[in-house]
Amino acid sequence: MTQRVPVIERILGANDRLAADNRARLDAAGVFSLNFLASPGAGKTSLVEQTVSRLAGRLRLAVIDGDIATSIDADRAAAAGATAVQINTGGECHLDAVMLQGALEQLDLSAIDLLIVENVGNLICPANFALGTHKSILVASIPEGDDKPYKYPGTYRGVDALVINKIDLLPYVKFDMDYFRRGVAALNPGLVTFPLSCRTGEGLEAWLDWVTACVRMK
Ligand code: MG
Ligand code: ZN
Repeated sequence: MTQRVPVIERILGANDRLAADNRARLDAAGVFSLNFLASPGAGKTSLVEQTVSRLAGRLRLAVIDGDIATSIDADRAAAAGATAVQINTGGECHLDAVMLQGALEQLDLSAIDLLIVENVGNLICPANFALGTHKSILVASIPEGDDKPYKYPGTYRGVDALVINKIDLLPYVKFDMDYFRRGVAALNPGLVTFPLSCRTGEGLEAWLDWVTACVRMK
């Protein structure tokens, strides 16, 4: 047992070095990048579709999709108007910096303004593996319940922005927004938060304005 911790530390150290390489490549090419984290079904791919289809006229977009199997999500991102690359992790429940490095090889970074990386749906280990992306976005959703910040503090603590998706379902689902937000505030004070619905479009403008401002400030 005592030997396990140093091994894990070595793996994370190697991952962090590769993540720094990825960041340097993105910076050199002038690409701004987001890493979408969420549990399965929260609406990461729906947010990718809405973001891509609404910004496609203004920005050059690419999407890297991580999934255990299939190219369903990359196909949806491509249909929305992005250059899309699928990573199939073959069972791994998170993306790591090596996987992102391989996907970056397949893109012409000089032709991209905004890169969205959709991580594997999982609220636990994706937060432990830096990819080199500029900001991490957590996509929460109303049907998941209001207790998720309390149950998955590590993920809520480490992100740079929070999207609360499916707010159109608030009248139908037991979800105490004050309780949820208190949990978030205790872990990540002042976290920029976007309540929205990818289905109805409510709240999307504020999210798109923030993303656009991030790209422009790059
Ligand atoms: Mg997805
Ligand atoms: Zn994992």
